Amino acid sequence: MRFDVFTLFPEVFEPYLDLSILARARQKGLLEVRLHNIRDWATDRHKTVDDEPYGGGGGMVMKPEPIFAAVEDVLGRPPQVPVILLTPQGRPFTQAVAWELAQHPHLALIAGRYEGVDERVRQHLVTDEISIGDFVLTGGELPALVVIDAVARLLPGVLGDPDAPRKDSFSHGLLEHPHYTRPAEYRGWRVPDVLLSGHHAEIARWRRRMALRRTWERRPDLLAHADLSDEERALLAQWEAEARAATAADPDAPRPEDPSPHQEPDA
Ligand code: SAM
Repeated sequence: MRFDVFTLFPEVFEPYLDLSILARARQKGLLEVRLHNIRDWATDRHKTVDDEPYGGGGGMVMKPEPIFAAVEDVLGRPPQVPVILLTPQGRPFTQAVAWELAQHPHLALIAGRYEGVDERVRQHLVTDEISIGDFVLTGGELPALVVIDAVARLLPGVLGDPDAPRKDSFSHGLLEHPHYTRPAEYRGWRVPDVLLSGHHAEIARWRRRMALRRTWERRPDLLAHADLSDEERALLAQWEAEARAATAADPDAPRPEDPSPHQEPDA
């Protein structure tokens, strides 16, 4: 998969893309990231890429000409690939959006700076707008890296375990279960016995219950779209009833927490 990234700070990207899984994906030819400095398409002596906003007010706005010129020079006019603007005003980036983007062989990303880009870029060049969350960063470089990272790890062959992305949080509608590694006991805290049992069916059952419980506690909004069995729905109803009873008995009671890892979550 190829990304063309248009930015004023291409140097931000290389250190991250040169590490670990993404570096290997690039070496294997699974991921290609081409970085383009928008300033290279500025035509005046000072290589100006920003200007004051019409109507006044503080801050600067990225001029349209260098952005149009850069994208059209590299990708054609009009570009034949989706052109994504990173902006806090875009649609929220989720795992589902990452899967959607991973179906494209080629994407363009535009990272803004200052107060953002001239509105005509959004209206006449961009085909999609993505936000990585309800907060405002100084530039679109980190959001672009977030998108590249999340999408790249979904590409076939990028992760050692091809099933890993399907087991991750969000991919099956639930947060993932807790993980443990050696030692089996650390500072007196033991790994749940079931994980040491070697009993694969029991381990799978424990993990599914922990994922369900964790999602119910932390992100109940996800449960509306999760694929749950009748037994799991009954379990959720039971936890809800228990929580209501606990609140009725003590309105100041803290929110439910993960059960002790040594217990079944419904115990
Ligand atoms: N004035 C803009 C607004 O209020 O919507 C924010 C501009 S922000 C300071 C500069 C650039 O950072 C944006 O053009 C965008 O590319 C990037 N950016 C900042 N926060 C972002 C977010 N949450 N998601 C995606 N991009 C973001």
